[in-house]
Amino acid sequence: MKIVDAEMVISAVKPEQYPKDTLPEIALAGRSNVGKSSLINKMLQRRSLARTSSKPGKTQTINFYRINKNFYFVDLPGYGFAQVSKTVREQWGKMIEKYLTSRENLKVVLLIIDLRHPPTKDDQMMYDWLKHYDIPVIVIGTKADKIPRGKWENHKKIAKETLQLDSNDTFILFSSETGMGRDQLWDELKKVVS
Ligand code: GDP
Repeated sequence: MKIVDAEMVISAVKPEQYPKDTLPEIALAGRSNVGKSSLINKMLQRRSLARTSSKPGKTQTINFYRINKNFYFVDLPGYGFAQVSKTVREQWGKMIEKYLTSRENLKVVLLIIDLRHPPTKDDQMMYDWLKHYDIPVIVIGTKADKIPRGKWENHKKIAKETLQLDSNDTFILFSSETGMGRDQLWDELKKVVS
């Protein structure tokens, strides 16, 4: 896909702030620091449209990026960050849940997991939750560059088994460092945005 235009539209904390248009939305979910912002930047070939950080837990808002005036990437707050209060965690949960269950423009959720490790309990809960609500999901194992090529398939197998991935769901090996998986992901996304 040729990216001619990419802009950050709003960092929303409540539904009233979500964009009013009805363009299709592709949401990204994953634990904090897993690499969601890096993935957005890599997909768009923009160095720093989405803010990345080595500090976990910085994104507590729902960030809407409008692409080619045609669709949105929606970066959801990262989950599973232990060093915040229970109240804050509950607020994040509610914010994510509200968006995912009520947003009619939502076409698919990209569930981003760290390929180096088996999916966490939070990843498993998120996957089960999405299946329960019948929300289309693509699972992405990112940071593939951090493990040797010869181990990719085995890590993928463990991730699929741990999540009990539905055989109809797509799993993509990805790296924001090398661009691995980028074309495959665009092929999948073109099905929902064109
Ligand atoms: P977010 O909190 O999910 O948005 O995570 P970020 O995109 O900010 O990434 C967190 C950290 O992981 C940053 O230091 C990134 O440079 C690093 N990172 C993200 N994706 C990759 C990847 O595919 N490969 C490598 N080697 N590092 C990555």
